[in-house]
Amino acid sequence: MKKHNFSAGPCVLPKEVIQKASEALLDFDNGLSLIEISHRSKPFVDVMEKARRLALQLLDLEGKGYQALFLQGGASTQFVMVALNLLETEAAYLNTGTWSSNAIKEAKLYGKVHEVASSADKSFSYVPKNYTIPANCDYFHCTSNNTIFGTQLTTFPKTDIPMVCDMSSDIFSRTLDFSQFALIYAGAQKNMGPAGTTLVVVREDILNKVTRSIPSILNYNVQIAKNSMFNTPPVFAVYTSMLTMEWLQNLGGISVIEAENNKKAQLIYSEIDLNPLFTGFAAKEDRSKMNATFNLTETKLKETFETMLQKEGISGLNGHRSVGGYRASMYNALTLDSVGVLVDVMSELERKA
Ligand code: PMP
Repeated sequence: MKKHNFSAGPCVLPKEVIQKASEALLDFDNGLSLIEISHRSKPFVDVMEKARRLALQLLDLEGKGYQALFLQGGASTQFVMVALNLLETEAAYLNTGTWSSNAIKEAKLYGKVHEVASSADKSFSYVPKNYTIPANCDYFHCTSNNTIFGTQLTTFPKTDIPMVCDMSSDIFSRTLDFSQFALIYAGAQKNMGPAGTTLVVVREDILNKVTRSIPSILNYNVQIAKNSMFNTPPVFAVYTSMLTMEWLQNLGGISVIEAENNKKAQLIYSEIDLNPLFTGFAAKEDRSKMNATFNLTETKLKETFETMLQKEGISGLNGHRSVGGYRASMYNALTLDSVGVLVDVMSELERKA
């Protein structure tokens, strides 16, 4: 039975990527598995170099002073690394949800944090606007897509200080002027690959500004000098991420997938708005095109709805444990067809009710 995987991450990946990654587990280099060869061997060094190059190419940042790294420790380690490497005295953070809050908590260990605005007053159901970023801060940090609450930044502030962005749940999903960011990071496990590696894209001119000693493994300069191989990299996660980036480049790049993502979002949100049995969680103007959060208005239909979902092979639709309700995560590899199947179940429920 065909599965429709709406999981928030780890999540659906392109079938051909999983196929190629599986083949590499069995035979990557003359009968040897990808996970049993040296990361220093030419075949793997080529993979790492290609992954780093593809990331810059997809973001249109090649030749513009940026380096791409594939690191470990998840996006959560970037909450720490960003502050360790960039925060000398004060930093500005926009608080749009759990992940921003976690980033703020870590940054406070290393300097003064200005929370320029927060949407905590309304359970993070919107994106604050019209805030001021103090000019004396070392950087401004924001989260482009709030995976748990289903909100997404559509515009980014104009500021003269370096802008750092956690793009874990919408990297490679929409065209943006990526050169407005001085540092972008994203855990692989949504639009790239399996958990285990994190993409960091950093403009080199923002480094070397802090006076503290930084442990080598958490030092962007060291990771750049060692080509992301300061220690043994997570070879399978990097290889699979490379395959997904290759898949996206072959499709025609971010603008092509963005058009698909727009259609998927349009389809699900119009059903949420038209069907009286459902209400959207996020403010309409801030709705995420990656994670659509919604609730069932008639709780007595919960069991019927969930049985219908199961019958159609729909999985991963439960909302985050802190929000409840439902969350349809529609990452790059989820097809418009899968969203169509979900929308059909939602309208069928309305007919039955
Ligand atoms: N930031 C965002 C936007 C996320 O969605 C997540 C979790 N998926 C994280 C950070 C934390 O990522 P990780 O589990 O890789 O540390």
